[in-house]
Parts: sequence; C-alpha cells; structure tokens
Amino acid sequence: MQFSDLQLIDPLLRAVHDEGYRTPTPIQAQAVPHILAGKNLVGCAQTGTGKTAAFALPILQRLIETPNPNGHRAIRALILSPTRELASQIQESFSSYGRFTKIRAQVIFGGVGQNPQVEALKRGVDVLVATPGRLLDLMNQGYVKLNTIEIFVLDEADRMLDMGFIHDVRKIIAALPVKRQTLLFSATMPPEIQALAEHLMYKPVRVEVTPQATTVERITQSVYFVDKQHKRALLEHLLDDHKIRRVLVFTRTKHGANKLAEQLERSRINAEAIHGNKSQTARERALANFKKGVTRVLVATDIAARGIDVDDVTHVINYDLPNEPETYVHRIGRTARAGADGAAYSFCDHEERAYLRDIEKLIRLRVPIIDDHPYPMSAVSAEVPQLQRPQHRQGQPQSRNGSRGSSSSNGQRGQNAPRRETRQPMSAGSSTSASNSSRSSEAQHKPRRRPPTRSN
Ligand code: AMP
Repeated sequence: MQFSDLQLIDPLLRAVHDEGYRTPTPIQAQAVPHILAGKNLVGCAQTGTGKTAAFALPILQRLIETPNPNGHRAIRALILSPTRELASQIQESFSSYGRFTKIRAQVIFGGVGQNPQVEALKRGVDVLVATPGRLLDLMNQGYVKLNTIEIFVLDEADRMLDMGFIHDVRKIIAALPVKRQTLLFSATMPPEIQALAEHLMYKPVRVEVTPQATTVERITQSVYFVDKQHKRALLEHLLDDHKIRRVLVFTRTKHGANKLAEQLERSRINAEAIHGNKSQTARERALANFKKGVTRVLVATDIAARGIDVDDVTHVINYDLPNEPETYVHRIGRTARAGADGAAYSFCDHEERAYLRDIEKLIRLRVPIIDDHPYPMSAVSAEVPQLQRPQHRQGQPQSRNGSRGSSSSNGQRGQNAPRRETRQPMSAGSSTSASNSSRSSEAQHKPRRRPPTRSN
C-alpha cells in the first residue's frame, strides 16, 4: 500500500514524502480511512507504530475539507496527551504534516509559564494539543473554550489512567460538545479503558496493530539476574559494547536516575538524567543531546520517558524492573521504532523477581535469561534454594531460576522443569517468543570474569 492509496490530499502527501515515509505503517493503513470517513475509533497501538500520523493526517484533511463552521479561527481538534514531551511531539507532528496547509497547531502543558501559551491561544489555533492539568487550568481561567471541538483524541489512554489523570480527563470530556468525532489510542486495553471507550463513544471502529500487550516483534529481550549492588558494574560492563550506541536506561526513582547518570559520567560514559524534577528546559536539553548523539546514555524515570520520540534508540535497559507490567511494554517500545530492530535488557534482583513474573504473564512469553555475565546473582535465600546455578555455556536457554533448562553442563538434567519446554507462548499473537529466543544478541557479551568490586 502507498500513501496515495489512502486518499490523502496533495499537501499532506507532499509533507509525508518530505518526512521520508515511503509506505503507511499498519496502524496508518488501518486507521486513516476510518478517521477520514468521520468514524469514532479505538486504536490499540503503542508509541513507535506511527500512530501519531495515523490520526494527525486524517484530522488535518478533515479540517481542510470541512468548512470551518465558526467563521473565525477556533479550536476544532483537541488532542489530550499524558506528558509534556509527548504533547510537544504531537504538536510538532501536526506542524510538520500540515506544513503545506494553513492549519495552525499549538501545544499547552504545565511546568512552564502560561503567558506565551495564552497569547498563542488568543491569536487563534485550529488544533490544540494539551496535557490535562494545564488545559483544565486554562479552561477554569476562561482562556480555553472547548465548545467548538469537532474532533477529540485521547492519546495513550492507559497512561492517563496510570498517572492518575483520569478525573481531569473526565472533566475535560464533560466540556466537549456531544456531537463530535472521538478517537482513543492506548497501548493496552485494561477493563477501565474499555469502560472509558464505551462511555466516550457509541460503536467505535476498533483497530489493533499488535495483539494486546504483546511486545514489539523486532525487540530482542533478555534478562540478567544480578544483585542490586552490582547493577551498575553490570551496566558499565554491557556499555563496553559499542554497539550499544544510544541507550535509554530506566530507573525507578528520580534520585536513582541522577545518581546513576553521575556515576556513569565519572566512569567517562556520556550520560544524562531526565525526570520530572528537572526543569522543562533541562529536560529538553537532555533530550536534544540524546537525539544528537552527544549523550550516549539517557537515564530516565517512566514519566519523563513517556512518549520520547527518538528514532534509533538501539537499546533499552531496565536498570530497575517496573512494578507495573504494562510499564515494561511501554519502556521497551522506545527502541525498535519505525521499523528498526532494537534490544531490551532487564536487570532483575531478588526483590524484583515477582515483577518479572508479572511481566512475563502480560507479554505471554518468557524473557530469555543471560547468565553468562561477570556479576551473577549471589546464592540465595532459602526461599528459592534452586537459584544456585551450575556454570553454563553461553547463549543456551536457562530455566527461570537460572539452572540449565534441558541439561546442565555436567550432563545432569536441571532440578527444575526446563524453561523452553514448559513455557511456550500462549497465544497465536505472541509470535515474538520464537524469534527472541533464537536471536540471542547477547552472544556478543563475552564472559569477562572479574570480581564485582564496585558497588552502587
Ligand atoms: P509514533 O508511533 O507516532 O510515535 O511514530 C514513531 C516514529 O515513526 C516517528 O519517528 C515517526 O516519524 C515515524 N513514522 C511514522 N510514520 C511512518 C512511516 N509511514 N514510515 C516511516 N516512519 C514513520
């Protein structure tokens, strides 16, 4: 399929061509015709699938083709996004795709002064991209009216819920005209989001580009069992590999992100932290340095990393595993964007094993274990005695507890059920598992036994 098959008008086709897009991504191919036809739509798609263009292109076209009923420039399309970064990126996308049109897009978000935003609103905008908090603020102050909205997009609905914005979102929805086109996008579809979709629209078209909550196919995933105090040493060891060119490292806390970035810098690894306590300017600078390749390692918390649209992130490393399994799906979706391959490594300490189990349940596959690294998890708690492992050859699959799956190096069968034999993907959708298990890119991490001397 070509973009011209999507019945897009010439100014949009030219813009898409200038962006360097050759063919529509699956979400674009599926969603654009429905949105152009004015239908309500629920899209199950992660960031990285091209979903912004999937809604931005047909929205621009509808705004151009249907005469403005207001007689003057008034907000005709509203896009709600959970984070400032994502909101900015959506606005930039509207501006890029709309560069040969007269449509004007504006973004508003908190954490910065409101005056420039208010001034821009006064000059008139057609498309408003907003985070919920600042939008409600400006609505309450009378600077924004939503009664002229024709198209409403709720983007990353599941994150809105996770981040506690759902009440704000409901208040905003209540201020929208009843007669409108509504689009909802979400990477996962938990029951709350389904209920919200039902509340928002009647019989929407549903499009889904990856089976729900299965992880992007091209991402090679692996897990390293490691003690908490050796995570940094393991990270530095992995970073010796220069194929890890542009890497997003996730920590649980802002403090942890700062500390890790500082420690990496001390070890002469270009790193910066990005999190909610940094000023907007500092976040934008960190992001720009990362995009330019000045910073090799961007250490991020989940909220700050949400929606970061940097192509060519070669690796995502979960320095701390998230306690919400959906977050894992979001995190690793930062790599393998727009058709590229990517790798996601996860560090799992004793306390995080339950998180790993939850993640594997959600993604419906076992993440291959790399145990041939210099900082294996120490022998362990009575609770999981089998964590004591034999030495293994590299690249062979392991059982969950680290023992050899089908046979150990001394020819003994592992105490526990073999991982590969017992844990097959459960759904047809999770075709990822086969490719992941066979593509153990970590073969590149040659064992370099050294005592774990440094600690966090
Ligand atoms: P999104 O899922 O909207 O965040 O988009 C992810 C990335 O894919 C962005 O960097 C887009 O510029 C890029 N992209 C979107 N559509 C296409 C396409 N049809 N071909 C190639 N890249 C695309």
